[in-house]
Amino acid sequence: MDIKLFDRILALGNLIGQARLGYMETNLDFQVTSWNTGAAQIFGYSEDDIIGCRLDMCIPINKEEITCARQAVVISDGGITKKTKSFTCEIFYSPIVNQQNKTCGHAILAKDISEQMPYQNKLQQQIVHLEDIYRYAPIGIFHVNPEGSITEANSEFAWMLGYESTDMIVNQITDFATQVFFDPHRAEEFMTSLFETEKVAKFRCRLKRKGTLSYMWALCFAKISYTKSGSINGFNGYAVDIRDTVKAEQNFKKANEKLTALSVMDGLTQIPNRRKFDECLGNEWNRHIREKKALSLILCDLDFFKNFNDTYGHQAGDDCLKKVAAAIDKSVCRSSDVVTRYGGEEFSAILPGTGRQGAELIAERIRTAIQNLHIAHKTSTVSKFVSLSLGIGTCIPEQGSSSDMIITMSDKALYRSKANGRNQHCVYDPARDGPASE
Ligand code: GH3
Ligand code: MG
Ligand code: MG
Repeated sequence: MDIKLFDRILALGNLIGQARLGYMETNLDFQVTSWNTGAAQIFGYSEDDIIGCRLDMCIPINKEEITCARQAVVISDGGITKKTKSFTCEIFYSPIVNQQNKTCGHAILAKDISEQMPYQNKLQQQIVHLEDIYRYAPIGIFHVNPEGSITEANSEFAWMLGYESTDMIVNQITDFATQVFFDPHRAEEFMTSLFETEKVAKFRCRLKRKGTLSYMWALCFAKISYTKSGSINGFNGYAVDIRDTVKAEQNFKKANEKLTALSVMDGLTQIPNRRKFDECLGNEWNRHIREKKALSLILCDLDFFKNFNDTYGHQAGDDCLKKVAAAIDKSVCRSSDVVTRYGGEEFSAILPGTGRQGAELIAERIRTAIQNLHIAHKTSTVSKFVSLSLGIGTCIPEQGSSSDMIITMSDKALYRSKANGRNQHCVYDPARDGPASE
C-alpha cells in the first residue's frame, strides 16, 4: 500500500478515536469484522466480545435501507450497550465496495448523542413555544431589514396594516417608513429615536392601512438588531393596537373640555361667571401692558334689587337676572368684549382696546337696554322699571401694575353712580373718587 495513503488512514483512525466515534465494519451478513476503541467505549463490548457477532446486538439494523444505499446514510436511532441500556446515537452507514465494484460489507460510524438530547429537546420545545407566541400573540411582530423591507411579520401585524396575509406584507412593504406611517413626519421621528437609543424605542403612531385612507392607532416598540459579527441588520418591531385607549382618551378629553366650559359658565344666567372674569381680565391686563392700549371695565349693579325680590319674590328675581344678563350681553359689540356675572345682581363688561368714549357709549347702551326691558319695579324710587347703575374704569395698564386697579376704579365710579341717584353711569375720576391704588 502507498505509504502516504497508509499514514492518512492512520490519521483518520486517530481522528475518529479523538472524536469519540465508534467505527465498525461488517460483512454482508452484518457480522462484525472490525471494531475500534470508540465503539468499545460507546457500546461496552470489547473487540473479542463482538467480532463475528451480528451488529444488531448493539445497533438495530434496517437491512433494506442499508443494503439499498449506494452512499452513506444517517439514521438517528437508539443503541444498546452490553448492559442492555438503550441510548440515543447517530449512526452513519456506508457500503464497502471492492475492486470489482461489488458491495462486500458495511462501514458504520456511531456517535453517542444521548448527552445532547435533553438540550436538543428543550431547544425544540422552546422553538415550538416561540412559534406559538409569534403566531398567536395579540401584538404585531415584525422584522425590517436595513433596506427598509419587512422580511418577517406575524398575522396580527398583517391584519393591523390591512393585508390579507403575512406573505403579502413581506412582498409588498419594501419601504417601511413611507408605507407604514400614516403621518410622514412621525416616520422620521421614529427612525431617529430608533437609532438614538441602544434600548427599546417606544413610539405612539398611526399605522397606515392598505388601500384605504384609514389608520390604526398603535403603540410601537422597536430595537435595532445585529448580526453575530456586530453589524446592524435592521430592527425588530412590535405593535400594540391601542384604538380603545385612544378612544377613551378622546372621550375623556371631550368630557374635560365640556367640564371646563361649564365651570366658567353661570348656571342661572348662562353667561360666563366670576372665574371667567378673573381669568379674562388677567389675560387682557397683561396683553394691554405689552400692547400699550386702553382697556375699559364696566361694573353694573341693579338698583334696589333687594326690594324687587321682596316685592315680586325670589323666582321673579331670578327671571329678571336672566333677562338682564341677556340684554347686557347683547349690548356689547366686539367679539373680544366679555360680559360676565360678577356677583349676585352685579354684572361686568370687559372691553379690550376701548377708551373712555367707547366705554361710555357701551355703558349707556346697557343702561337703556335694561330700561327698555320694561320689567316693572314698583318699589324702586328711581324708575318704574328695573334699572341699573354703572361704573367705568379706563386705563392703559402699566408694567408691574395689577388688574385689581381697574376693578377699584370701576367700583369707585359705580359707588358714585349710586350716590348720585342711580340709573346712570359714572367714569372713574381720581379727583372725586380718590386714588385707585395704594
Ligand atoms: P342698590 O341699589 O344699592 O344696589 O340696592 P340693592 O337692593 O340692589 O342692593 P343690595 O346689595 O342690598 O341687595 C342685592 C340683592 O340682590 C340682595 C339679593 O337678595 C339679591 N340677589 C343677589 N343674587 C341673587 C340671585 O341670584 N337671585 C335673586 N333673585 N336675587 C339675588
Ligand atoms: Mg350689589
Ligand atoms: Mg344692587
